[in-house]
Amino acid sequence: MTAASDFDGASLRSGIRTLYSAPDEQTAGIRAALLNSVVRLTPQTMAANMGSSSMVVWAFRADVPAGMWMWWFSLLVVSGLGLLSWWRGRLKVKTMASPRALHRATVHAAVLSGLWAVLPLMWFAHVPPAQQLLVATLVTGMMGAGAFVLSPVPLASLAYALIYTLGALGALLRAGDPTFVGVAVLLVFYSMMVVVGSLFAWRKATALLLSQAEAVRQERMLTVLLEDFEAHADEALWQTGGDGRLTHVSPRLADLVGLDSHTIGALTVKALLEARKMLGTGALGEALETGRPFRDVRLTIPDRNNPRHLSINGKPLFDERGQACGWRGVLADVTHKVAAEQKLVQLAHTDSLTGLANRFTLHDALREGLAGGRSGALLTIDLDHFKSVNDTHGHSAGDELLKAVALRLGNCVRPGDLVARLGGDEFAILMRQAVTRDDAAALARRLIEALSRPIEVQGRRLRVGASVGVVLCDGTGLGVDELLVQSDAALYEAKAAGRGGFSFYSAELGERGRHRMDIEEGLRRAIDQGQLALHWQPKVDIGAWQIVGAEGLMRWTHPVLGEVSPGEFIVIAEQCGLIDELGHWALREACRTAAGPLAGMCLSVNVSPVQLRNGQFVNQVRDALREFHTEPFCLELEITESVFLDDVAGALEQLHALRGLGVRIALDDFGTGYSSLAYLRQFPFDTLKVDRTFVSEVLSRADSRAIVQMIAQLAATLGMRTVSEGVETAQQLAAVGQAGCHEVQGFLVSRALPLDDFVRFCRGWSGHPPLTATLH
Ligand code: C2E
Ligand code: CA
Ligand code: CA
Repeated sequence: MTAASDFDGASLRSGIRTLYSAPDEQTAGIRAALLNSVVRLTPQTMAANMGSSSMVVWAFRADVPAGMWMWWFSLLVVSGLGLLSWWRGRLKVKTMASPRALHRATVHAAVLSGLWAVLPLMWFAHVPPAQQLLVATLVTGMMGAGAFVLSPVPLASLAYALIYTLGALGALLRAGDPTFVGVAVLLVFYSMMVVVGSLFAWRKATALLLSQAEAVRQERMLTVLLEDFEAHADEALWQTGGDGRLTHVSPRLADLVGLDSHTIGALTVKALLEARKMLGTGALGEALETGRPFRDVRLTIPDRNNPRHLSINGKPLFDERGQACGWRGVLADVTHKVAAEQKLVQLAHTDSLTGLANRFTLHDALREGLAGGRSGALLTIDLDHFKSVNDTHGHSAGDELLKAVALRLGNCVRPGDLVARLGGDEFAILMRQAVTRDDAAALARRLIEALSRPIEVQGRRLRVGASVGVVLCDGTGLGVDELLVQSDAALYEAKAAGRGGFSFYSAELGERGRHRMDIEEGLRRAIDQGQLALHWQPKVDIGAWQIVGAEGLMRWTHPVLGEVSPGEFIVIAEQCGLIDELGHWALREACRTAAGPLAGMCLSVNVSPVQLRNGQFVNQVRDALREFHTEPFCLELEITESVFLDDVAGALEQLHALRGLGVRIALDDFGTGYSSLAYLRQFPFDTLKVDRTFVSEVLSRADSRAIVQMIAQLAATLGMRTVSEGVETAQQLAAVGQAGCHEVQGFLVSRALPLDDFVRFCRGWSGHPPLTATLH
């Protein structure tokens, strides 16, 4: 059923038709409501009918016409019956009414108005004017009032007004007085107004009822939805009245809070929080106090094993005058969410392999310690031979080793100290209580001792050993990053001093560290900015005294620091991963020179063990030879025996692949390693370069002379050439020549020279050996 606001005939007719016939529940409800609004007035209307008819009889009392008693009696009976049926049904509130009930009401109205119509028809035309006036007034008044009272039941109202009008018109007609024509016109007009007015009233009443029904429907739906929501969600609605007491207490809310609904209903929010001894109530209390909406305020109901975490949001309610009248919001169980969050936090703060704290946690702890101005010590620990364990025994063995190391570290520290894994084989310990230099040194010693003992992993006893860097913090001045840099510098120092020891950070170390940083940063730009050059140092055949080759030595001119020695920057480049780039540059430079300005000479270039390990080196050599059309035998690669340190098999494979390209391979700095002789048997080097330390002592120490002699003989046996490095004097030249070395390289002949100078040097070469050299 619709409530069209317009008032045209078609919609009116269809509205009335629907009201009187539609079987649906909503229309039945509207019918009942409309009927009720009429029935409710039954006592008054029936009393009016009885009273008015009695008054008529009274007005005609002088000579009550025949039939009027009958009329009066009939009216009293009909009114009485109406009253009786109202009386019977007064306690039953009808919510539904059938179309028949409406029709009954219409019939009742028609009967009543029909009875009343008798009055003017019978007793108007021929009675004195006073009584005519009474009848006229009564009829018009009863018609207007009755039609209005009946307006909720439109057909009843229409029938009522129509029958009255017809009765009145009939009466005027019977009177036959021409002046009554005007009265009749007025009457028709009047009754039309009454009909329109009552129909209008009906439309309004219906529209109102419809919107009320809609509101009820919506509320019912809302209730259903809310109940459904509360039954299935982890959430519950809560609401308080102006007095702060909870008003909307659903079973879900009771369940979340852990109290029964009855108890909660009597409590204010504040009292409820106290009753459950909830934690984290400060923010909520503040929000309630200030009256501002709040979201996701966390509360915890403490329980040693299963604390329950709740999240509450709410906003204030206002009445129509804008006065605060309570709160409404949602309370949710977020225990699972909090558990997941805590797990994440834990994961983010621990090292998953060892269960130790991770880098972030260490940073936090350092920051906290620094903020608190506490003194302490930071020890950084680096395992000495972890990589070779990983390479030789596999990653799972490496992982187990790290776990064992973590356990041992944990056993060395005092309660309250923090042990963290920074990544790879790097660990750190933060000593948090007042720490003296001796305490820190004692711990460093304990750590080194603990890690130097063999560790049982997968049935094997592995040895790693560790170096430790220590920095003491007195709680003033330094930031976290600075501390970490300092402890790194100390660790670096410990490793440089020969592993298996510890070093304290000092200001001087810091200076060195900064210098190192400058070099590192400078190196990153060195190649692009053309700051590098290869200088050439001649190699001279002792017997023929001819320049047979040259070694390319890298030179770097830093824009601020000036000349930096390769002894310094090569090591740094190896550590910070720049050596591949530098080495590749040197290799190409050597190939280019061997094919061009120094063609016909065998040029050596130094190769770092790090380069050889990167897997790309063999390809780089092949490409460089190809690019510059360099004969492979004109290129010699100088490697040191440290290439064999971590992975002998891998190094040999690389060397054989290089040999396969046709290039020559020299073993540099020979004699400084521990097992040099063993390597000689593993790979057929072309050249052995006797280390400078032996040459410099060859005159002063007999054992050095013996070593040089032995090396030369051994090399001869194995078919290798020997080069003596660092020959500065004619005596040294004589000594190494006597020992059987084939070539010399050293300041005696020349320092390493820039390419142009070197070319000039070669041109000016006389071929006359220094005097002493020929004295043997
Ligand atoms: P190295 O390969 O043993 O080079 C020989 C070093 O001895 C050179 O030092 C050279 O200048 C120096 N030297 C030569 N004759 C004498 C002498 O008679 N007396 C003394 N006292 N020294 C002499 P430099 O040029 O400072 O190079 C140091 C080290 O840096 C080299 O030792 C080499 O290991 C490394 N290096 C230099 N250039 C490169 C490079 O291009 N790549 C790689 N990976 N390392 C390089
Ligand atoms: Ca060399
Ligand atoms: Ca050397």
